[in-house]
Order: sequence, then structure tokens, then C-alpha cells
Amino acid sequence: MKAPALEQGDIFRLHGPAYFTTFGDSLSREQRKALRAIAVCRTAALGGHVDQCDQCGYRKISYCSCRNRHCPKCHGRARAQWLEQRAAELLPVEYFHVVFTLPQLLAPLALQNQRLVYGLLFRAAAETGVAAASVRNYTLAYCAQCSAGRTVGFRWDRPTRFAQ
Ligand SMILES: [Zn+2]
Repeated sequence: MKAPALEQGDIFRLHGPAYFTTFGDSLSREQRKALRAIAVCRTAALGGHVDQCDQCGYRKISYCSCRNRHCPKCHGRARAQWLEQRAAELLPVEYFHVVFTLPQLLAPLALQNQRLVYGLLFRAAAETGVAAASVRNYTLAYCAQCSAGRTVGFRWDRPTRFAQ
């Protein structure tokens, strides 16, 4: 797989200090840790090793990974593989993807009370999904929280396709 021209680490290294100056106080400890880890992943800052060919002398430097679970460089391949496996489980039916979001005004409250606010959001989204499915006479077949923890996707299927 060819590396993209610009990676998240590049962006965080370029703009991270200014971002931390402006928004650092509103970030959780985990968010700060992830941003810092991604910024230094596979750079000289984490150390590394040099492989050298005994025959031609070709040298290749490999830097260490951050291993942060949010790092796309460390877990990008595993994430893509997981998505492919989930896609293989999909039923051959019509799907709808529904995204629920909070008003921007509530973002600071949600950031400081993630468990409570996202719990309420997910409960409201689930109840809305069930209600919407019943109005359309669909069967709510599946509900999933995305990995970012900010959206809930629902899949409906027409009852005739779920013969029981
Ligand atoms: Zn990493």
C-alpha cells in the first residue's frame, strides 16, 4: 500500500502546537495523548533501527510506532480488514445509514461529560430509530456505534425480506 502524500502525523506536527495553544484546555487527557502520539509516530522522536545490506550497503531506516489505538498508521490496516469483514456480514438487502449529531452548542458539555451525554444521545437515537422503523413498517435489523463514538448507524429492512 502506497503511503498518502500527507498523513495525520504531518498535520499534527505542522499545526499541533497552535491547536494545543488554542484548544488544549478543552481536550481530554486521552485526546491530548493521542494527538501527541500520532504526531511522533514513526519519526526519529521515537527511535528506530537501521537495516543495511551486507552486499551493496543499502541502508533503510525504520522508526518505531506509537501503538496508540487511535493512530491510523499503526492500526489502519487492521481497521480496513475489520471493515471488510463486517461488510462481508451484510445481508443482501436495502440499507439506510442515519447519522445523529449534537448541536455545536453542546460540544463543550459533551466533551466534559462524554459518558452521560453520549449515553443520552445513543438512547435517543435508538428510540428514534425504532420509532421511525415502525412508522415505515420496517424492521430495525441492526444498530451500531461508529468507532469515533459520535454517530450511530441503523439498518432497516423491509419486513417482507425478513420472513420468519
Ligand atoms: Zn502510530
